Amino acid sequence: MNLEIKNLSKTYPNGVQALKNVSLNVGKGMFGLLGQNGAGKSTLMRTIATLQDPDSGAIHFNEINVLKSPEALRKTLGYLPQEFGVYPNVTAEELLTHIADMKGIVHKGERKETVEALLQKVNLYDVRNKKLDGYSGGMKQRFGIAQALVGNPELIIVDEPTAGLDPMERNRFYNLLSELGENAVVILSTHIVEDVSTLCSDMAIIGNGEVVLTGKPDEVQEAMRGKLYEMPIKKNELVAYQEKFKVISQRFFAGKLMITVMADDMPSGGFDVKAPSLEDAYFKILSEN
Ligand code: ADP
Repeated sequence: MNLEIKNLSKTYPNGVQALKNVSLNVGKGMFGLLGQNGAGKSTLMRTIATLQDPDSGAIHFNEINVLKSPEALRKTLGYLPQEFGVYPNVTAEELLTHIADMKGIVHKGERKETVEALLQKVNLYDVRNKKLDGYSGGMKQRFGIAQALVGNPELIIVDEPTAGLDPMERNRFYNLLSELGENAVVILSTHIVEDVSTLCSDMAIIGNGEVVLTGKPDEVQEAMRGKLYEMPIKKNELVAYQEKFKVISQRFFAGKLMITVMADDMPSGGFDVKAPSLEDAYFKILSEN
C-alpha cells in the first residue's frame, strides 16, 4: 500500500498559494501531517480526497491515478473532514445506514451487519438510537470515524480530529485511531504535536504550503538531543535572551517563564540540559520558517 504525492501546487483565486510543490510518500500505517493553522493541511487533505483539484502535480494510490480517476479512489477512501459538525435530526444508526447505502452496500442484511459492527467498534452501539445533535464532541468524532470506515477503505484521511475534544474524549479517540493504521494508509492532519507523538509512525511538517521536514517522530525528536537547554527567567528578560540566544520556545511554569534555547554547547548563565520532545523539534522548525 502506497500513496505517492508528487509536486502538488495550488493557488486559490484570491492569490493565496496554499501548496507549493508538495511531495510525500506514505506507506501503510499512521502518518501525521503537522502544521499551524493556515499551513495548507486541509487543502492537501481535500485534494487527496478528490474534493478539489490542484493546479499541478500528481497523486497515485497503489495503482490508481487519483487525479485522473477520482471515482476509483473514492471507492477505497474513508474521509473524516474537519467540519463534520452539522447533523440532521437523525440517529447514528439511521445516518450510518444511509451512508452505507450510498457507499454501495445495498444488501439489507449485509448493511445492517456492517452498521452494527461499526457502531460497536466506535463504542456507540448503546446510543445508536439517540439523535446525533445530542452527542458530545467526542461521540460525534467517533461517529465520524464510523462513517469513514464504511466499506473497509484502504486510504483513510482524518483532518484535525482531536481539536475541541476534552482530555478524556481525546484519549478514547486516540485508542480508536491507533487501530486504524493496521490495515490502511492513514493520514492524520493536526496542529497538535501530541496527536503525532502518540499515534504516528511517520510524519511530515508543513509550513506555508511547503513540506519542511519528513521523518519518524522519534528520530525527529532524537535529532535534537544534546542541543537543548532550558532556564526559568523573568518575563521582562525575554527580549534580551532572544537577542543573545536562539530561543525556540517559551512557556509559563510556576510563575516563571521557562525558555528553551538551542545551542551546540551549554550556554553560560545557569542553563540546564533539556531532554528533547517532539514539540521542541516542531518549535525549532516554526522558529526557522
Ligand atoms: P490548514 O488546514 O493547515 O489550516 P488550509 O489548507 O485550510 O490550512 O489553508 C491554507 C491557506 O489557504 C490559508 O492561508 C487559507 O486562508 C487559504 N485558503 C484555504 N481555503 C481557501 C479558499 N477556499 N479560498 C481562498 N483561500 C483559501
